[in-house]
Amino acid sequence: VSDTNLRISGDRLINRLTELGRIGAAPGGGVRRIALTAADRDGRDLLVRWMKDAGLKVRVDRIGNIFGIRKGTTDLSPVMTGSHIDTVLDGGLYDGTLGVLAGLEVVECLNDADLQTERDLVIAAFTNEEGARFQPDMMGSLVYAGGLAIDEALTITDLDGQSVGAELEKIGYAGDMACGEIAPQAFIELHIEQGPVLEREATAIGAVENLQGISWTEIHIRGEANHAGTTPMEMRRDAGYCAAALACRVREITREIGNGQVGTVGTFTLTPSIINVVPGEARLTVDLRNADDTLLIEAENLLANCLDDLRQTERVEIDVRRLARFEPVAFDTAIVERIETNAARLGHACRRMTSGAGHDAQMMARICPTAMIFVPSRDGISHNPAEFTAPEYLIAGADILLQTVLDLTASS
Ligand SMILES: [Zn+2]
Repeated sequence: VSDTNLRISGDRLINRLTELGRIGAAPGGGVRRIALTAADRDGRDLLVRWMKDAGLKVRVDRIGNIFGIRKGTTDLSPVMTGSHIDTVLDGGLYDGTLGVLAGLEVVECLNDADLQTERDLVIAAFTNEEGARFQPDMMGSLVYAGGLAIDEALTITDLDGQSVGAELEKIGYAGDMACGEIAPQAFIELHIEQGPVLEREATAIGAVENLQGISWTEIHIRGEANHAGTTPMEMRRDAGYCAAALACRVREITREIGNGQVGTVGTFTLTPSIINVVPGEARLTVDLRNADDTLLIEAENLLANCLDDLRQTERVEIDVRRLARFEPVAFDTAIVERIETNAARLGHACRRMTSGAGHDAQMMARICPTAMIFVPSRDGISHNPAEFTAPEYLIAGADILLQTVLDLTASS
């Protein structure tokens, strides 16, 4: 029977978020704790000390993921929660760290209440979620879930030629546990929303039911550079016009598809880029996202149709290069419902939502039932020193995590 009256200590959670944020503190109030640097090592050391102080058994796997294990009363497969403690170049206090330290706070709360769970509870801190130094991002959870071979991951290098394997050795986190050895029965991640939706609706809790699929393409248009005054309009092969028409079409496609479809032309360059020359070449990128893969494919097809039209009507050549394509991730409905139920019981406004950003949970969803809890981000800002979540929301999120972990671990 779960203890529904149990609540986390907001002071302890917030003090720890603040203390961890001092490691790698950057000018302007930000945090610079890039994966596998000395600052990352110091942050890991502090986390491991806290885990051990809380009585957790700490294990480190070969990709440097840290696991703090609180034994349950049975040998049933464990429940895992967590996130990451690495940051982007100038990140904030909460992205990733909230999920890890709230997991630790759940442990402290169970300890204080002298509560035993049937299943083990495992707090995870995954290596290099941000991908600020080593690509791909979400590396630790990707390797853990079997999506990237460990031996391949260890040879990946940064811009200075330093490898993941060598840097893990250097900071003392080249563990010996096999990646994936602890096979969870469920995974749940608390994270800041990194978007404006919850704040706009004054809703404390997001029950994240899925995560957007991503389609990235680079488009190279070749026409003919020519005199802007002497070339009649009907004789032009204007790559600049085609690129602009395409950018406008991307916006139309999002309107036609609706249902959360987003589309962005984030880069756009014309050559030669001179006022009195018809552009001979254009390069642009298109970022399309949707939580429904059928709709995402439809958006991709509409984009392809537009390219065909431009090839014919404007007599340009167009090359398309796919830069990335990830299918949407559907989280576990039963866990999402538990989050909603617990939010209602504790009196917190809650809505279902889609994650617009990538998270370790999407990798863990490959190997076990998974869901996420979001809390509001002020002004929707993240990856920025101004990142902020109000204490009441941090506490609400951690309390919902606690109750959902209690459900999943079956405690008495
Ligand atoms: Zn994150």
